Amino acid sequence: MAMSKRDYYEILGVAKGATAEEIKAAYRKSALKYHPDRNPDNKEAEEKFKEAAEAYEILSDQQKRSQYDQFGHSGPNMGGMGGHGGMGGMSMDDIFENFGDIFGSMFGGGGGRQRTRKTGPEPKNGHDLAQQIVISLKDAYEGTKKEIGYYHFVACDTCSAKGTKAGSKAQTCTTCKGMGQMQYQQGFFMYSQTCSACSGEGFVITDPCDSCNGKSRVQKYDKLTVTIPAGIFDGAELRLAGKGDAGIFGGRSGDLYIKIGVLSDKKFHREGDDLVSTLMLTYPQLVLGCQVEIESIDGSKQLLKVPKGSPVGEKIIIPGKGFENLRRKGFRGNLVIVTQCHIPKKIPADAKKLLTEYSKIIGTDAQDGGIVSFFKKFLG
Ligand SMILES: [Zn+2]
Ligand SMILES: [Zn+2]
Repeated sequence: MAMSKRDYYEILGVAKGATAEEIKAAYRKSALKYHPDRNPDNKEAEEKFKEAAEAYEILSDQQKRSQYDQFGHSGPNMGGMGGHGGMGGMSMDDIFENFGDIFGSMFGGGGGRQRTRKTGPEPKNGHDLAQQIVISLKDAYEGTKKEIGYYHFVACDTCSAKGTKAGSKAQTCTTCKGMGQMQYQQGFFMYSQTCSACSGEGFVITDPCDSCNGKSRVQKYDKLTVTIPAGIFDGAELRLAGKGDAGIFGGRSGDLYIKIGVLSDKKFHREGDDLVSTLMLTYPQLVLGCQVEIESIDGSKQLLKVPKGSPVGEKIIIPGKGFENLRRKGFRGNLVIVTQCHIPKKIPADAKKLLTEYSKIIGTDAQDGGIVSFFKKFLG
């Protein structure tokens, strides 16, 4: 080989006398740094990733290591995979396949890109599903139950999610020997292609279950009653564990997410955990004060004391009659009543007479010339 190659110890950054553990740790560190998932479309990182894999392949094998120590890159067993000077032809998939266990755990989730030989159908988790339920503000205040209907996959009862007829078994695909992929070598390069005999599954079901046609699950329309807790807010999501799609071949079922929409109400609205409404009062009620009975959103009657001299926009608070707090059990917001003044368009003649008289007494002559005196009194 005319091409000069870097020293394997140097590549991994370990001393010549490094222990197997130190080599493994150094490789993990390097693989993590140059992992393609972290360096998408980065050719240089890919080369470093391959270089580190090659160094590890040699140094992690006692026999290859001692030969390398003696003879360097020209050693008799330095051919590596494909036998053309190191592992220049080693594909990324080969690296994941050979060393996937080393960084599989670093990238979570069952080895990530690691490809393994399959002996039969592998359980796969079912998908999460989503449904929406729209409720009234009153329902959100009191809590409610709603029935929904939806399609989802359920495990096939006939074959107990095996996909096969009783007495038969899924067979390892003979074409790809369970790998799901076929590998071809062309010159220095390795190519892989999804196996057409098994569609990449690595197994074939020759005698499929009649109910699910070998799919291990069937689609079903289900109805279920969703309990919506009091205090639920617009946009909240409820998770119904395991009510999504069943997994394939016995995999875990997905969850069903219920997204809650809360309609606006004509009389009430929500502010935090407070239930807020306005109350129309007459001018005398605000000036003199009064007691009025009001009806809350749930139909319950509340006696409200409006203090004398209450301005418009005054907030009268009835503690603990607001929404239930979803996170702090037993804690409730308040019922907040905001005062408004009702201004009538028409009033009876005698009322008009008295009001005019009142206006004169307080110096706001509302009849002829009223505008002038108004400005004098308040803005002048
Ligand atoms: Zn196959
Ligand atoms: Zn079946």
